[in-house]
Amino acid sequence: MDIRVELNANPGVKPQDASKLGFGKIFTDHMFMMEYDRENGWHDARIVPYGNICVSPASTVLHYGAEIFEGMKAYRRPDGEIQLFRPLDNFDRMNQSADRLCLPQIDPDFCLKALKKLIDIDRDWVPSAEGASLYIRPFLFGNDPFLGVHTVNNAVFVIILSPSGSYYKEGVNPVRIMIETEDVRAVRGGTGYAKCGGNYAASMRAGEKAEKKGFAQVLWLDGVERKYVEEVGSMNVMFKINGVVVTPKLTGSVLPGITRRSCIALLKEWGVPVEERLVSVEELAEAVKTGALEEAFGCGTAAVISPIGELSVDDVPYVVNGGNIGEVTQKLYDELTGIQWGKKADPFGWTEAI
Ligand SMILES: *Cc1c(COP(=O)(O)O)cnc(C)c1O
Repeated sequence: MDIRVELNANPGVKPQDASKLGFGKIFTDHMFMMEYDRENGWHDARIVPYGNICVSPASTVLHYGAEIFEGMKAYRRPDGEIQLFRPLDNFDRMNQSADRLCLPQIDPDFCLKALKKLIDIDRDWVPSAEGASLYIRPFLFGNDPFLGVHTVNNAVFVIILSPSGSYYKEGVNPVRIMIETEDVRAVRGGTGYAKCGGNYAASMRAGEKAEKKGFAQVLWLDGVERKYVEEVGSMNVMFKINGVVVTPKLTGSVLPGITRRSCIALLKEWGVPVEERLVSVEELAEAVKTGALEEAFGCGTAAVISPIGELSVDDVPYVVNGGNIGEVTQKLYDELTGIQWGKKADPFGWTEAI
């Protein structure tokens, strides 16, 4: 499929001060779009000026939440070139999400080609300040213009780009986390492993509650027994207990993070034992008491690695590593950000130049 290009005749002003970028507030001059219908498959692939999209008021996405997305970044290397980090993993995961929500499959190689072309056109928007990046948001939604509840015949795939500032404006500081004991994010058999908007809609209430109490994120428990830890906010979570890095296994309600996968690969490379298994709150509380819990952190594309300094269970605080970032946490942060921004060698072949 060819990609038609319509250049933006009124390009925007690129922000000069990276410290004011924030996250997901500014968009580049162009976006990629294509449409799907059952007869024609994906068609009309195009790069067009960034702008509003028109949907029917009856569109499936507005009523039944038929939407999935991805989150990845383009990084400015020290030599000025731009690179992506494991981009095909994102498009492959989008297909897993699409499968769960009965949305059409995409061709990962074609989408990567489209993404590279889009970034190439908007390459001057990729920031070069420390920790800044071009955030990439591919999304796909059902767009049938009628209200019947059915699997979709029409869908839209879009990629938008947003230059974003460093996640850590004041350095990588450990955060306080609230264990959520009422709401659940996902259940086995549900959509937890899919990156879909609906999961986020359902997680807002707990997030707001945590924020009001002064916590940075929610630690989600499993939806059945409310006993096992699953994720922290929209990140995967890892704990170092007696020298072993333990992370919740992918039971179907946990999102299979690419940062999680990369951390596991690095830890194994370094000879640090890793276990993917169920981790209960009880085990963590006990490990804090005995001093066995050495480190805790969240991991995901946005923050890369986010150290956890305190876990709060029903208003009882459990402090991790004296509230400081742990050694392995710091090493993972340095190594991953080093590879992503092209400051360190990439022995795994994770990066892809544009
Ligand atoms: C995107 C996401 C993650 C992290 O995945 P990465 O591929 O590492 O960015 C973790 N949990 C949830 C719920 C997510 O949506």
